[in-house]
Amino acid sequence: MLCIGCHLSVSGGFLSMARQAQSIGADTFAFFVRNPRGSSTKSIDLADIQNCRKFLIENNFGKLVAHAPYTMNLCSADAKVRHFSKQALREDIQKLENLPENYYNFHPGSHVKQGVETGVKLISQQLNSVLTEKQSTIVLLETMAGKGSEIGGNFREIRDIIDRVELKDKLGVCLDTCHVWDGGYDIVNSLDKVLEEFDKIIGLEKLKAVHLNDSLNPCNSHKDRHARIGEGHIGSEALVRIINHSALRKLPFILETPNDMDGYAREIKFLRENYK
Ligand code: FE
Ligand code: FE
Ligand code: ZN
Repeated sequence: MLCIGCHLSVSGGFLSMARQAQSIGADTFAFFVRNPRGSSTKSIDLADIQNCRKFLIENNFGKLVAHAPYTMNLCSADAKVRHFSKQALREDIQKLENLPENYYNFHPGSHVKQGVETGVKLISQQLNSVLTEKQSTIVLLETMAGKGSEIGGNFREIRDIIDRVELKDKLGVCLDTCHVWDGGYDIVNSLDKVLEEFDKIIGLEKLKAVHLNDSLNPCNSHKDRHARIGEGHIGSEALVRIINHSALRKLPFILETPNDMDGYAREIKFLRENYK
């Protein structure tokens, strides 16, 4: 069974988010643990989270893939931003522990003129100060398009972060199809080769989730602009190959395509119909 969902808003609560997912044919979903552009975090309604948890189990949902706020930058040159980012990461993980054994995905960060090496060092230092042996949440580094000074635009940079983190089993990778394509990995013509490279450099056992997006731009454009399935340069045939690939087919797929709920429902239906 294909495990697929999309980004949803947590504003109506956790249970209502899970019900909304089910209503569009999803059996996983993504959400921002806090306001994606700000820093505020609502207090937790424990009863709501428990009800959500029960609903997810009863309805055979796969692992959820929560998303960190965009304002998070673990390798910012600004110590205040680094401090906020570390606190946000810690609080979000604590909050997610109420929905145990799910994923928390984040953008590694932008080094902004400090250089990749310094960025990688700062990111791994912060991860080392936040991750704990007892957490059940796995933190995922998202592959990036390499826009501006983004870290994680190639597999090597992701590997370099993982190498420096002590609690490696609390760390995984989320592959964003738009981002790797924009980053120069030709998943349309050479999917096997790209995944072999991922395996050689990072290890496929680290790959825990996929952001399934088409891209408005050609391969290697470093732009990061998502398109609906079949409306971009990746195309629906290649995306169907991706959901069916033996190395990927069991992973949770999250759509981050520009859509309303009907659009997501249509894409989920299309992908389920083309899952063999
Ligand atoms: Fe993302
Ligand atoms: Fe993404
Ligand atoms: Zn993106």
